[in-house]
Amino acid sequence: MTSAKVNFAPGEVIFREGDAPTTAFMVESGSTEVYRGADNNPQILGQLGPGDLLGEMAIIDSSPRSASARALTDCVLTVLDHFQLRERLEKADPIVRALLLAQLRRYRSVLGSLDRRAVLRAGPALLGGRRLDDLLEPATGKIRLENQLKQALEDGSLELHYQPVVSLADSKTHGYEALVRWQHPERGVVSPVEFIQLAEETELILPVGRYVLDRACGMLAELARRGHGDLHIAVNSSARQLLDDRFLEEIGLALEHHGVRPQCLQIEITESLILDVEAVKRFIDGCRSLGVLVLLDDFGTGYSNLGHVHTLNFDMIKLDQSFTRQAIDSPRCLAVCRAVIELSCALEADVVVEGVETEEQRALFRDLRCAYGQGWLFGKPMAQEAMLARHPDKSG
Ligand code: C2E
Ligand code: CA
Ligand code: CA
Repeated sequence: MTSAKVNFAPGEVIFREGDAPTTAFMVESGSTEVYRGADNNPQILGQLGPGDLLGEMAIIDSSPRSASARALTDCVLTVLDHFQLRERLEKADPIVRALLLAQLRRYRSVLGSLDRRAVLRAGPALLGGRRLDDLLEPATGKIRLENQLKQALEDGSLELHYQPVVSLADSKTHGYEALVRWQHPERGVVSPVEFIQLAEETELILPVGRYVLDRACGMLAELARRGHGDLHIAVNSSARQLLDDRFLEEIGLALEHHGVRPQCLQIEITESLILDVEAVKRFIDGCRSLGVLVLLDDFGTGYSNLGHVHTLNFDMIKLDQSFTRQAIDSPRCLAVCRAVIELSCALEADVVVEGVETEEQRALFRDLRCAYGQGWLFGKPMAQEAMLARHPDKSG
């Protein structure tokens, strides 16, 4: 996985006609030109500037470069490896459309009025009546964000925040849920809701997942060293991880590497991710042999499939925060919460109620004999220093 920025001086060749396509580029700054023929007698095909893609055409059809490109000014280009683009091309994705549209744009600028007329003729059908720039912008923005995310991963600048999960009976901290945060250089903190989804669109979620797992296990080791080896950390998983045979192996390796008791690690599986029940079942069985606990996350969102609850052997069920909010005002919602807690109890799975924000909600779920709670009432997700400050060193 590469994600590099490269600099070119004015006149420097970026790639040559006939070269094998290995990478595409995104122009970050400066101006480039695409041309055919000799360097000293070029047929100029077009100029590309910031935000434009360069060299993606050869990646699309895996054929040799059909033109050369060189820098007109000092340029900074982001290298896009072909896996990043190929994967997208293989699936229906707005990026695919953008790549093709970028090609059209090239042809328009390159081939002059003849093509402009062709593009204009094809335009309305391809663009759905929208402006080319409006369509390209979200997709190129997405590619840029994805590259920055790769960079963040390489720099180690993703952080885990930890949100307490407490026992409702005695308010003791049972453990934490690890929630990833990205401190973006320009945008500030980017929500995992945005970048996890982006990472899930390609294999990038796999290194992100490994990173989170490694950090969480490192934290469990530190807590144990401080004499708090009874605390748990729950890590979120993604659909791709669950379908990847290496995930279990990585969990085993991370536990071993950090010398962590498997019982302290919990893996959360969101209900909507259970598309391949057999694969998830194999994963849960694998976790069970390792001694790692598995939680069903966001139970009650989307379609709640009771089949999952009885065929898949979860250790805990997390009741989604939408229930927590409504249980106070809606007797019907309360009845569902009571039934879910009883059902879980019969299946010997503890329930964690999510999104507890008020004392009233805490009391209600404690009285329903729900084992654990998580939410702002007990603590917002906190940086690792703040979390560790709650668990002073008892070792010496
Ligand atoms: P989630 O697993 O359901 O995580 C709980 C989300 O609810 C967190 O949002 C948390 O900050 C928020 N929350 C907790 N308590 C309260 C409360 O009392 N009130 C309200 N209104 N919200 C509360 P966050 O951190 O933005 O995470 C969003 C989602 O991103 C997570 O939802 C999870 O699906 C995903 N995510 C986070 N970290 C990771 C990760 O490392 N890997 C993967 N695959 N997904 C992750
Ligand atoms: Ca979760
Ligand atoms: Ca959740």
